[in-house]
Amino acid sequence: MTDIIDRLKKVRKGAMFIIEGPSGTGKGTIAKELLKRDSNIKFSVSVTTRKPRPGEQEGVDYYFVTNEQYNEFMAQDAFYEFVDSQYGDRYGTLRSEVDSFINVGQDVLFDMDWAGARQMKEKAKDDVVTIYLLPPSIKELRHRLENRGTDSKELIEKRMNLILDKISHWDEFDYVIVNVNIEETVLKIQKIISGERMKRVRQVGLKGFVKELVREAQDD
Ligand code: 5GP
Repeated sequence: MTDIIDRLKKVRKGAMFIIEGPSGTGKGTIAKELLKRDSNIKFSVSVTTRKPRPGEQEGVDYYFVTNEQYNEFMAQDAFYEFVDSQYGDRYGTLRSEVDSFINVGQDVLFDMDWAGARQMKEKAKDDVVTIYLLPPSIKELRHRLENRGTDSKELIEKRMNLILDKISHWDEFDYVIVNVNIEETVLKIQKIISGERMKRVRQVGLKGFVKELVREAQDD
């Protein structure tokens, strides 16, 4: 029996989980928790031209590149999706970060904005699951941004001004969670992940399995 289950697991198609929400909703912390708790999810490290923040690591949080290097990736058609942020920085998801994992049943987690999520849905519809995190209140969001201590006052104001625009895309997402409590949100997302893994379209090994069941029934 365990043989069958292991085989089915191997032939599952991985899903792409995109988590988005305004800065300060806890996306980063939640993503880290999910990755820590589930070894079958890999984080898609994006390419960005933005400068690293204190504590951010090359190849872990982002691949930090120059504009020239970014242009090179564009010329090679290396991106699955890419976007120029309203802050003037550029971000892109490398194809190489995604396809090799999905095809061997490994799920991939993305931290990307709504424009990227939209591009991914267009390109890989059935493989993509999008989750939007809403803050419990705008006051709470400002508080979290200020407490994070990573952004200047000016940048916080800029982020706050863009929040309405960001939030207006909440209804393009498959799942929406109001992130009141990080632990509860992580548990909710883990449930989403479990459900999505069981979808027929992802269980590509089922066809062969059912064929065997039918043959067994006929021989019985
Ligand atoms: P930050 O600079 O604060 O890390 O990210 C700024 C925004 O860019 C966030 O909304 C984040 O989700 C988004 N982002 C990060 N990587 C990518 C990416 O590869 N593609 C897209 N479209 N957005 C990204």
